[in-house]
Amino acid sequence: MPTAEQILKIVKDEGINIVKFLWMGNDMISRAMATHVDFLEESMNSGIGITRGMQSFNALDLLVPSGRFGPESSEFRIVPDLNTFACVPYAPGSARFIGELWEPEMKPSSTDSRYYLRRILEQAEKMNFRPMASCEIEFYILRKDGDKVSPYISEKFGTSHGYDLVNEFMQECVDCMSKMGVRLERLKKEYGHSQVEPTIKYAGALKAADDAVTLRDVVKGVAARHGLFVTFMPKPFQGLAGSGNHLHLSLFDVKGDRNLFYDKNDRRKYDFSETGYHFIGGLMKHMKGVTVFGAPISNSYKRLLPGTWSPAHVCYGYDNRAAAIRIPSLLSTSGGEGSRVEYRVPDPSANPYLAIGTALAAGLDGVSKKTDPGEPLTADPARMSDAQLEKLGVEYLPRTLGEAIAEAKKDSFLKETLGEVLFEEYLKARESEWKSYREQVTEWEIANYLTTF
Ligand code: GLU
Ligand code: MG
Repeated sequence: MPTAEQILKIVKDEGINIVKFLWMGNDMISRAMATHVDFLEESMNSGIGITRGMQSFNALDLLVPSGRFGPESSEFRIVPDLNTFACVPYAPGSARFIGELWEPEMKPSSTDSRYYLRRILEQAEKMNFRPMASCEIEFYILRKDGDKVSPYISEKFGTSHGYDLVNEFMQECVDCMSKMGVRLERLKKEYGHSQVEPTIKYAGALKAADDAVTLRDVVKGVAARHGLFVTFMPKPFQGLAGSGNHLHLSLFDVKGDRNLFYDKNDRRKYDFSETGYHFIGGLMKHMKGVTVFGAPISNSYKRLLPGTWSPAHVCYGYDNRAAAIRIPSLLSTSGGEGSRVEYRVPDPSANPYLAIGTALAAGLDGVSKKTDPGEPLTADPARMSDAQLEKLGVEYLPRTLGEAIAEAKKDSFLKETLGEVLFEEYLKARESEWKSYREQVTEWEIANYLTTF
């Protein structure tokens, strides 16, 4: 971890004026307060103040009416994690930290999402595990023509030409990410027109979540410099592919030397360990309740449809991309390092600390209780009848945000793992958005009903 002195030297050498202190709350938006560099030292020591009301904000940028916190509430401090310091190459003269909301007495607040993930990692460490993760984030590159927004290019999946068309923009994104400490592993021209997917090398789960925050910020910032913009909305265009944020999760030993999801003596012949199967068992058991933390907005549920390469059912399978959990096949040369689960439900609108934290908590619950996940599904559930699904015990994921909120409330495990305040404020924010969405009279209703009735 760089020391405060080292950071002060870097900002001086690099001519930094403004330093942002980021945090992510129940609105899933990467927000920040910034300090002038002359006040950086004291801000690193005592954080920057922010109204507690921000923990009762929703993604519509509104204070939730039933929220615990409001303008009358006191302050949190945004306290930076010095490890996350980075100059922001696409915004010259600026740097940033990722931080957490702490109490004025300089203790982490139990309502903070990043601190929640750290608590889960501590819990894992007590069980002798080191959770590793990577977020596989898809997004669309768009252009604006007046009020009209459309995909920047209309290339099909994987076309070589597609990479060339977005080259200049993506080159700058890759360069900025690497300067900010994010290790890009692969780049994919995804299925949707103008949809791309940079994949990040796996890391400890906290860094993986921080990397997701950085990626979202970088591509938005760089897009603006190219006269473009980017959306992480899960289903931006009807008829085009949705954007997922598949979470790749594994448990290593505490030293980080050995992947404990690998076992070449697997009786099912997938080289997957009992610990891994139990992790899947736990994640499946809690999946309906956990869904709202990975798929947090009403639009998320327009992505989670059968037959779209996004999951719609609670099931797992070996290299089955229609399942909610995929066990990816391993490179014969990897020696088991890459053993992992790919949890495909989350999308990039999620707060990555909560999405990863709740998924890990559910998986760890399965490991401690030795939860049996049952047999893997070898078919695409979209091609099975409801009767066939029922026979196999395969249930649907929540089909609306409203259902997902209700499922989270039904599963007492979630309130326990998140703590009462974080659990309740998060769900109140989702409820307020769901209410606002439900009350909309949509273009579809006007087009279909206005002249009919
Ligand atoms: N776009 C798909 C989703 O929404 C995933 C496609 C893939 O990478 O398998 O999850
Ligand atoms: Mg993809």
